[in-house]
Amino acid sequence: MRAKFQPDENGYFGQFGGAYIPELLYPNVKEIEDNYIQIIESQEFQEEYKSLLKDYVGRPTPLYYATRLSEKYGAHIYLKREDLNHTGAHKVNNTVGQILIAKKLGKTQIIAETGAGQHGVATATVCALMGMDCTVFMGEKDIVRQAPNVARMKMLGAKVVPATSGSKTLKDATNEAIRYWIQNPHTFYLIGSVVGPHPHPDMVARLQAIISEEMKWQLKEKTGSENPDTIIACVGGGSNAAGAFYHYLEDEEVELIAVEAAGLGVHSGESAATSQLGEVGIIHGSKTILMQDEYGQIVEPYSISAGLDYPGVGPLHAFLFDTKRAKFMSATDQEAIDAAFELTEIEGIIPALETAHALAVLGKMELKSDQVVVINLSGRGDKDLETYMKHLKD
Ligand SMILES: *Cc1c(COP(=O)(O)O)cnc(C)c1O
Repeated sequence: MRAKFQPDENGYFGQFGGAYIPELLYPNVKEIEDNYIQIIESQEFQEEYKSLLKDYVGRPTPLYYATRLSEKYGAHIYLKREDLNHTGAHKVNNTVGQILIAKKLGKTQIIAETGAGQHGVATATVCALMGMDCTVFMGEKDIVRQAPNVARMKMLGAKVVPATSGSKTLKDATNEAIRYWIQNPHTFYLIGSVVGPHPHPDMVARLQAIISEEMKWQLKEKTGSENPDTIIACVGGGSNAAGAFYHYLEDEEVELIAVEAAGLGVHSGESAATSQLGEVGIIHGSKTILMQDEYGQIVEPYSISAGLDYPGVGPLHAFLFDTKRAKFMSATDQEAIDAAFELTEIEGIIPALETAHALAVLGKMELKSDQVVVINLSGRGDKDLETYMKHLKD
């Protein structure tokens, strides 16, 4: 029997998911769908993937007991250190896996979309590693805002194509990538989160599942139990949360908390709190919850953090929200900034702005003194220093 939080054969989690794609893309998507599980589960893939995760990415990432943070909030708080991965975030777990799948399918040309440039850098990195051709679509506005990552991608040999339509940000870059994919069906679209048409959300979740696979044995070693009481992760598209939740989805004793970006406030009109503001619709090839106006036009999201600035969530997360399996919370720009400074001051770890949203909900929870909480520290804050500097108190 299929587990409750696994997609059905058409890629649906409850009513969410599926593959809403133009006819021209069908053979390409079908090729991935027919092969991805078999490839991922093969011994050959597992050996290559695990070996690269170990020696190239630097896994397993530590599960760190944050002593001073725990004292402050009166609970046992562990940080899953995805920030220590090569390229600075969880995104590389997915790009390493997908590039191996692309290789098995005989693909040599890779395309990707990127917002802040983190997924673009992680994709350009594995393309350099495998000697593959790499084209990254990025909003024209983001190209200006994220110049260091554009430079990294170029140095890694990728071609960066500006998306000049709409708001010139992530959703437009995604539209451009899909448009290019339709015209060039021999390319492999290396999607950066648990979004897009089936099987991409499931494929990316399986590749990020390494996070909770490690958490299980690391918690067992440290606490005597594989299960924490609570797992907290931030949600843009949802891939780091999917990875941190994956092996606990069916175990309803483990509380799952997904944290969205509230921007200037959930109801301020400047927010990316999709689950609170969104309704069911179709975006980038799948049926999910997204922010839209009365005519079904996408509402521009806003967050201080470019990685959370997306108007939808992946279909698994829409289902987790709908079934109440995960609790959805949010943090504003200011709360995230404060949480980032707090972690830096008391633990000596500068988190990514995205991750800071997950940290920010600690102060909004009623924690018990024996509660074991794991926060997925999705990435490091080097890329956000310019923003942090504007908030430095002297
Ligand atoms: C991209 C990014 C995110 C948001 O993406 P998800 O798919 O929701 O995980 C979160 N944290 C960091 C550090 C990122 O780079």
